[in-house]
Amino acid sequence: MQGKNAIVTGSTSGIGLDIARHFAAKGCNVLLNGFGDAADIEAIRAEIQATHGVQVRYHGADISKPLDIADMIETATHEFGGVDILVNNAGIQFVSPIEEFPIAKWDQIIAINLSGAFHAIRLVVPQMRARGWGRIVNLASAHALVASPYKSAYVAAKHGIAGLTKTVALELATFGITCNAVCPGYVLTPLVAKQIPDTAKARGITEEAVIRDVLLAAQPTKKFVTTQEVAALTGFLCSDDAASMTGGVLPVDGGWTAH
Ligand code: NAD
Repeated sequence: MQGKNAIVTGSTSGIGLDIARHFAAKGCNVLLNGFGDAADIEAIRAEIQATHGVQVRYHGADISKPLDIADMIETATHEFGGVDILVNNAGIQFVSPIEEFPIAKWDQIIAINLSGAFHAIRLVVPQMRARGWGRIVNLASAHALVASPYKSAYVAAKHGIAGLTKTVALELATFGITCNAVCPGYVLTPLVAKQIPDTAKARGITEEAVIRDVLLAAQPTKKFVTTQEVAALTGFLCSDDAASMTGGVLPVDGGWTAH
């Protein structure tokens, strides 16, 4: 990955931030993206750049907006001279019974978690194709392979990402471009921490019971997956050693989807 240029969407927090750190540690320039306090983001950007001696930039594209995505890819291409690696990681969650699921939340989750990846891929592929090398990794979820109640939009978007991944892999297989989906089980990031109270409400149980009986009940290891484990798998998929891995929908889920 030395000297390559990557975009990691949703990299101001959680899994995306550790993927960005992992890439930078391997000598890859990184464009960070995501929301948050401007001073905090600048501190993260400067720290990763100084620690690893690579170029780290930030673009605040809202991944639910196709024009923002186009501007982000143009910016990365201009700043770095090209985009070799795209990680579609930005994502949100909302927990509600289907009959009460807010229409605006459904639309927002599909826009960020599914359509955002479509737009970024379609816009970045022409330059990858021209160079004959590219790596696309979509952060899916165990929920790309199995469902859980009260997460209709998220599960639908993540199953959609699995289909998008396979289709893109087939279309680009002869051009040196791979496309894979990484499917984590539960990782204790702000995305998961925020849904614990909502799940407790939807199921009428305590927050401790949500962690023990809902989240970790699904994972035979009885441990949260770590952001570093997800970043390491993503990094491998972006290496030359993974040139023959494409179209994969790959669990890193403590055995959850082995059930
Ligand atoms: P997180 O909440 O810690 O981080 C999400 C990131 O996405 C943040 O940087 C946030 O600013 C950004 N973001 C949100 N909306 C955005 C938008 N409209 N435009 C641009 N950026 C936006 O979440 P996380 O747990 O690190 O999740 C990252 C990805 O991993 C998501 O796609 C999520 O579905 C997936 N995932 C997470 C888990 C888990 O247990 N945490 C499990 C499986 C899959």
